[in-house]
Amino acid sequence: MRRDQHLSSGGGLLPGCSSVVLRRSRPRQYFAGKVRVPYIAPWTGENAPPALITTRHGRGGMGIGYADEYGIADRRRGALWIRVPVKPGAGAPLLDRVHALRQRQAMNHMLCQFCGRPADDRRGRHLFLLDAISGRPITDGGRTATPPVCDGCALEVRGRPSVRRKFVAVLVEDTTLWGVAGIVYSPATLRPVPGEHDERLTLVAYGDPRLRWTLACREVVTLHGCTAVDLEDLTGQTAA
Ligand SMILES: [Zn+2]
Repeated sequence: MRRDQHLSSGGGLLPGCSSVVLRRSRPRQYFAGKVRVPYIAPWTGENAPPALITTRHGRGGMGIGYADEYGIADRRRGALWIRVPVKPGAGAPLLDRVHALRQRQAMNHMLCQFCGRPADDRRGRHLFLLDAISGRPITDGGRTATPPVCDGCALEVRGRPSVRRKFVAVLVEDTTLWGVAGIVYSPATLRPVPGEHDERLTLVAYGDPRLRWTLACREVVTLHGCTAVDLEDLTGQTAA
């Protein structure tokens, strides 16, 4: 399953070209002091009590749903999505958390996790900063729930010790929607089932029967055509 195509590459019109190009509006940028607030970070003003989960008979059988479930606002590719308000800039940013719906939007349209603009380089590749702590080598088909980073933001964050210590940079030729990271509910008790290693979120593939019992909180993609890059060489590599 390929990711959705976004409406605009962000590259703009060629001089003299009169064609109409649908553009995604440029997201407003927020700063906490001098640090850019990541596009996918939630704000305290986006907190809301959890919506009531119930059982629902849908395509494929029984699963979880909302009593007042509403089409694609609540469900994508068979997965019920967590309901969260969308009010970026309201209150204070929560820099170590992820806003589920902006994360999904960033993954579906390959938007930069920091500025929310298209993250394609000149050759249509995307740069991902992947967790280096696991020590696992980057392999083709590897999964991630962390959206890409545009060239400008990569240059902005690469000097931060936390980024250099925690992440490796990978240029990716293509991505495929794989599934979701979410909260799996027990069909018997309708209570959340603890994830592996007590993780709050469980990775569930599209097509997995557990998807109907999963409250999706992140979109997960697989990465294909991966090339490890040094953050110091970033500009030269991506501009090639
Ligand atoms: Zn960016």
